[in-house]
Amino acid sequence: MSSQTINLAQSIPIELANSINNLASSVVLPAYLTEREKALLVKKIKKLLKEKKAQIVAHYYVDHDLQALAEETGGKVADSLEMANFGAQSSASTLVVCGVKFMGETSKMISPEKTILMPDIEATCSLDKGCPADEFRSFCNQYPEHTVVVYANTSVEVKAIADWVVTSGNALEIVNHLKKQGKKIIWGPDRHLGSWIQSETGIEMILWQGQCIVHDEFQVFELQELKKLNPRAKVLVHPESPAEVVELADVVGSTRVMIEAVQTMPDQKFIVATDNGIFWKMKQLAPHKKLIVAPTGGKDGHCISCAHCPWMAINGLQNLHDCLLSGTGEIFLEETIRLRALRSINKMLDFSRKKGLIAKKEVKKA
Ligand code: SF4
Repeated sequence: MSSQTINLAQSIPIELANSINNLASSVVLPAYLTEREKALLVKKIKKLLKEKKAQIVAHYYVDHDLQALAEETGGKVADSLEMANFGAQSSASTLVVCGVKFMGETSKMISPEKTILMPDIEATCSLDKGCPADEFRSFCNQYPEHTVVVYANTSVEVKAIADWVVTSGNALEIVNHLKKQGKKIIWGPDRHLGSWIQSETGIEMILWQGQCIVHDEFQVFELQELKKLNPRAKVLVHPESPAEVVELADVVGSTRVMIEAVQTMPDQKFIVATDNGIFWKMKQLAPHKKLIVAPTGGKDGHCISCAHCPWMAINGLQNLHDCLLSGTGEIFLEETIRLRALRSINKMLDFSRKKGLIAKKEVKKA
């Protein structure tokens, strides 16, 4: 079968793109806290976690105070794949998901008996927002013979439409598996990740045209200049970045792959093209290595977006404390939709466990 990618359009409709940008720029970030205020909040959060038999599950992109607290209290810091896996195996009755909403929804899909809280339920994702379920369903209906593969960064309604859910940590393996079965796929919503997967696997693919507002900002010319200034640095790129940026990479992969590269490669300097929240974990595992953030929007390496997701940045110690104290930010899902979406999530988790991409089942105590 010949490989082919059909680009549905150059981008999602301009009105939708504008509304996503407006949403991102209207985010209200947590107020500055002194070290004393932080210490007091950490103490109160630890007490609440014990009282409520709760654990924190934090993404690599959230504030380092939250990542440190998750680890200190027996929770987990991970990519979205391991976050989902940890939630499924945890014996906690409450999980506080520090990340964005689709991560909280995935936890609830897998663990409906648990209370799933988020410090701010408005923490969304441009990929999720850029793929409304009704439009995506109509799109898929035009290609009934295609297998629908969606990225985890989507709503529960979009996951309910999908045959498979993937993350950047398992997308290549799952799509290769589908290719061996002779499948053609619809891919949504990230166009850059989709193009990369297509070029790596050669599968026939129809692409939805969403994008991550953070990774889409990485700039090819400025990265070339930075490489010239740092000729010995290795370049690590997340595949949600534009293809021209990916082409400059020494390593392309998920957050987990990038962290492992910093930890295990002998090189001392790395230029990193992903959200800079990941630096905390990289520095923890490889404290002597030098990390440079890849240049984002604007000319001459000038930073506009600063490589940090506004919705990940909403998560802070204060709203984490408040959601635990008063139960705000709880995720609820409609049961029929949850069960439909769960099929594709479970397929992904089972596949990933079999392939050793995530830990096998083992219950984590709260
Ligand atoms: S970094 Fe990009 S993909 Fe991740 S949550 Fe933010 S907008 Fe979504």
